[in-house]
Amino acid sequence: MSEILPLVRPAIRALKPYVSARSLTVEGSIFLDANESPRPLSDAVAFKGANRYPEPQPRRILETASAIYGASRENILVGRGSDEGIDLLTRAFCEAGRDQVLICPPTYGVYETAADIQGAGVVRVPLVGSPGFRLDVSRICAALADPAGSVKLVYICSPNNPTGGVFEPTDIVSICTAARGRALVVVDEAYLEFSGRASMISRLGEFPNLVVLRTLSKAWALAGVRCGFVFADPEVIAVLQRLRAPYPISSASIAAVEAAFSTAGREVMERSVAGILAARAGLLKALGRIAGVGQIFPTDANFVLVRVKDRPRLSAVLKKAGIVLRDRSFDEGLLDCIRITVGTAEENGAVVACFEEALG
Ligand code: PMP
Repeated sequence: MSEILPLVRPAIRALKPYVSARSLTVEGSIFLDANESPRPLSDAVAFKGANRYPEPQPRRILETASAIYGASRENILVGRGSDEGIDLLTRAFCEAGRDQVLICPPTYGVYETAADIQGAGVVRVPLVGSPGFRLDVSRICAALADPAGSVKLVYICSPNNPTGGVFEPTDIVSICTAARGRALVVVDEAYLEFSGRASMISRLGEFPNLVVLRTLSKAWALAGVRCGFVFADPEVIAVLQRLRAPYPISSASIAAVEAAFSTAGREVMERSVAGILAARAGLLKALGRIAGVGQIFPTDANFVLVRVKDRPRLSAVLKKAGIVLRDRSFDEGLLDCIRITVGTAEENGAVVACFEEALG
């Protein structure tokens, strides 16, 4: 008996999915089955093949993703960024007015927004142990054991946005074990490449309720392309396939991802990550010398969270310099905290100069 299907919303279980023209594998040379234009209008406004619908789940991307991330093709869904994965999971597993998602604030905001849109509830189990934040495993397991059984998705963002640190794999494994047959555990690894840590993707075979989100928006520098992946048990992937858009990835995005996934593209990504880590080390060192920086949170990501002593003064100085950082003051436990994305050496230098002027 499947562990996953009883967790799926009844309406989605019963759903007869839409079958798009390009999802049917047919051989042919004249395609008059999808009401497309027979040709692009001109190369100036489009590119070769732009008049045709793209592959719903591009084969070559799936094959390369399978090799890069170490998962079978049946374990992968390609979508428009991790945000689409979060949206699909919420819509598939959370019944409005009944089910809930569990989040560990302070964390990425879209988990809660997607739940709100769906009409699902939100259970909060805050992180513990600032500045080296940890998951409150016993409280998470207690929430999962609630006889009402209404928590369907547990989100773990590792490295966590906005705090920056990774969580212990042993804690994630304990949560997966406690959630078996009750909820999916969604590990969002958007920033994993900057951490040097192993992905939870390698544990998929052990936990049918484990879901891992990866994105090309960060280390792969393709935020504008909108591409990300859901890795999960084939049964979960099959459920998400039923409700995804008929053609989620544009042909332009497919071309960009194929280029990024080439041997040369992969080398460029690895060099870029190494460069960002070196720049991060420089930024941390410079910030550490500034008296008005009260706290620097440990980071495994391409950003640094700091607590400052005079936030209004810093905001004014940054504004004058045209520098935009992310104020996280309104997040749980993050009063006077600012998140700085690691930029180029020049950009980081400009940030440090403002910090020195405002807080030095
Ligand atoms: N997860 C986390 C933790 C993020 O920080 C972000 C983007 N800021 C996303 C997911 C969404 O990424 P994508 O561009 O792949 O939708």
